[in-house]
Amino acid sequence: MPVDQIGDVYVAGRWRTSGSERRTAVVDPTTEDPLAEVVSADAADVDAAVRAADAVARDWGATPVVERCRLVVRLAEEIERRASGLTETITRENGTPVAESAHAPTTAAAHLRHCAEVGPSLFAEDVRPNPMAPGDTLVQRRPLGVAGLITPWNYPLSLIVVKLGPALVAGCPVVIKPAAETPLAARMLMDAVEAAGLPAGVVNLVTGDGATGQALVEHPLVRTISFTGSTAVGRSIGEACGRALRPVVLELGGKSPALVLDDADPEVIARSILKVSMRNTGQTCKACTRLIVPNTRRGEIVDLVADVVSSAPLGDPFDPSTFFGPLVSARQRDRVLGYLESGHAEGAKAVVGGGTPAGRDRGFFVEPTVFDDVTPSMRIAREEIFGPVLSVLGYDGLDEGVALANDTPYGLAATIFSRDEGRAAAVAVRIEAGTIGINHYGSNAAAPFAGHRDSGLGVEFGLEGIEEYLALTSVHRLPRG
Ligand code: NAD
Repeated sequence: MPVDQIGDVYVAGRWRTSGSERRTAVVDPTTEDPLAEVVSADAADVDAAVRAADAVARDWGATPVVERCRLVVRLAEEIERRASGLTETITRENGTPVAESAHAPTTAAAHLRHCAEVGPSLFAEDVRPNPMAPGDTLVQRRPLGVAGLITPWNYPLSLIVVKLGPALVAGCPVVIKPAAETPLAARMLMDAVEAAGLPAGVVNLVTGDGATGQALVEHPLVRTISFTGSTAVGRSIGEACGRALRPVVLELGGKSPALVLDDADPEVIARSILKVSMRNTGQTCKACTRLIVPNTRRGEIVDLVADVVSSAPLGDPFDPSTFFGPLVSARQRDRVLGYLESGHAEGAKAVVGGGTPAGRDRGFFVEPTVFDDVTPSMRIAREEIFGPVLSVLGYDGLDEGVALANDTPYGLAATIFSRDEGRAAAVAVRIEAGTIGINHYGSNAAAPFAGHRDSGLGVEFGLEGIEEYLALTSVHRLPRG
């Protein structure tokens, strides 16, 4: 079958042929069939996209916020109209089980509507009497200007939209650079952008790999970068933005704990452990992949979790009952298999899985795996695996449990299991993480999502996520009259 050749980028409201000869293959991770060859935009494409955004920055920033919000709500509607196409594309290019990808358009739309609802409050008149001298000060929030949005492959639509909504409401035009593995949902998003009536140039898209992303980061007309991805790449983007004194938001990796207290309800653990630890076949930044259990209950909890994980259906991601699909790419599969080997070699015991599923000669599948007897120094306890691998560590006494939970350079997320919500909340105060779930792990578009320590800088979601795209200006005034 001929493979689609896609050689254009979305600039100033139209698809424009790229001069770049570099292409990246997009592969269906379930069948390993090529889906498309998509252009890796070059520096000239990035320059055109950034200039298109810069050309409308003043007008878009001066557009009344209620009008910007109206268009953001229109975008939500257009995403919903394309829900089935977007769901199918996400599952096709990323292997995300449809039980998960079917929520992507709805949650994206909910996020956009929330931004549109709360955003105007940031632009309400803010006058502050001066406690040091006569007069007052008008505090203004102004859009930073062109925002570069760089995203990974694991949630191809959602991770773009959580940047796009806040940027648009704040008044920043954007250039989006999605992951090379998953450019197709992002391209479909541009149809929604166009149908929503967003002015040409406000949203631009350049597909490509790290070199395309780097050209965007280094472009002098880009005023802020919002990046989601690995800690290693985030560090290099942070360095570049630091040199340019440019604001940056970095949403990076994690190795989050699920801390089971001695009074935890086994039924609650059984109900939520898959979502907490292995959502999207483990390719979730906030997955709580270190299960930290009291040694007094270790056998019982390991058996329970092993049972849940081994019973969750693995297979065709288009089957609505599937929980585990393939990993996104051969590279990611090999990376995860490398961690499984390292777990075996370092003496952990695979109570479920531990290799490649039998009878699957196509598709980037790995076996969902639960390792018991994990010690804190093992690689599978320290490094982000980004696959369906759960490492169980035992503790004696709550202080040791909390210390193990915090024994990581990351600080993205955590889950605490306890029958006593008050006790869990008191333990949550001791956990170094940006978001913490009690007896489940959820998301809330109204609440800040932020990685601490090696998990990043800055905030997404909530009013705070919109503020990341704004600069403060204080206008001091003499007393009137
Ligand atoms: P990655 O860091 O390799 O790539 C992310 C994006 O950055 C891609 O678009 C890539 O092309 C681009 N890129 C790569 N090198 C670049 C460079 N030098 N300059 C500019 N852009 C560059 O990450 P990945 O493998 O695509 O995604 C997995 C990682 O993302 C995991 O570490 C995961 O934890 C993290 N993640 C974090 C969050 C969060 O909100 N904290 C959410 C999802 C994923």
